[in-house]
Order: sequence, then C-alpha cells, then structure tokens
Amino acid sequence: MRRVATVADGAGQADAHAMLRRVHLRTTILRVAVLELLAEAAERPMTVEAMAQAMLRRGQPISVPTLYGAVRSLVEHGLVERSRMDGGPALCWIKERASAASHQVVCKICQRHAAGSDAELSAQIARFCAQHGFPLGGQSVLIQTQCADCLRAASSPRSPLPVLALPPAHP
Ligand SMILES: [Zn+2]
Repeated sequence: MRRVATVADGAGQADAHAMLRRVHLRTTILRVAVLELLAEAAERPMTVEAMAQAMLRRGQPISVPTLYGAVRSLVEHGLVERSRMDGGPALCWIKERASAASHQVVCKICQRHAAGSDAELSAQIARFCAQHGFPLGGQSVLIQTQCADCLRAASSPRSPLPVLALPPAHP
C-alpha cells in the first residue's frame, strides 16, 4: 500500500484539504482531523471509537456521535471506506484514490490493510459476476485473511505445551 503523508511531515493537512476540495466537501476541522488520523494509521484501519480516543489524546475531545457524522460524510463522498470484519467493530480507512475498482486485503488478527487495483482481477470479477447472473459486476473486493506476521506468531507459541504426566503403567 502506498504510504500516505502524515501530519508529522507537515503534508498531512494539505493532503486532507486537497482531498476534501476534490469531492467538493466543505473543509471542517473535524473532517480534516479524521483524514489525518486515518492517514497516520496508514495500514491499520481505525474504529470511530479509537479515533475519538486519539483526538482526546491530542487535546481535541470530541463526542463519538459527532465523529460518526464526520466519518459518514467522508464515506458518502468516497474518501473513506468503512467496513465490518467478521462481526467485529466497523473499521475505517482512507479509500485509495487511484481507481474506483479497488481490491483490498485485511488481516483478521491485527487489521493490517493493503489496497490496490488490478485490471486483470477486475475483469475476472466482472466475468464471475456475469456468469452468476450479476451483469453489473462489483466495484471492489475485500479479502479477509491473516498477514504473514500473524501467521508466524500463531505457528510459534510463546510457551511450550505442558507435558502431560501419564500415570505409571500397572505391572
Ligand atoms: Zn496480522
């Protein structure tokens, strides 16, 4: 996934303003803050609650419902993607601007996220949908799986398995 400019390097705010201008959405402190937070989070999508906590740490306390409103407007204008994984909390991330048809893969364990676009994959999805009676196809695909780090962590347990003490065999 392309690294998004962060606030730390001074480009984050300009980036957020440009994104809002592009979709003709009025610039508000809250919308800019949400875009900055998600840009900083980069590969780790955030819940709205986590954003509210991050804003509190920044000294900008904001209520969760107010934040939901800002996120909703960003989702409606295609800047932010919000999706629920396996019944867990809804996660938000900045939608890739490159293409309307984006493919995304998310780790179910750590929520690491990568997005991109692949013309060949898009064509295959369109073909698959058409074959099953959905001629309009799909715009995006979200693959939920496990990243290499989480797979490695799962396959190397931190503590060895307890050794079962078997009762002595009767003579
Ligand atoms: Zn992971």
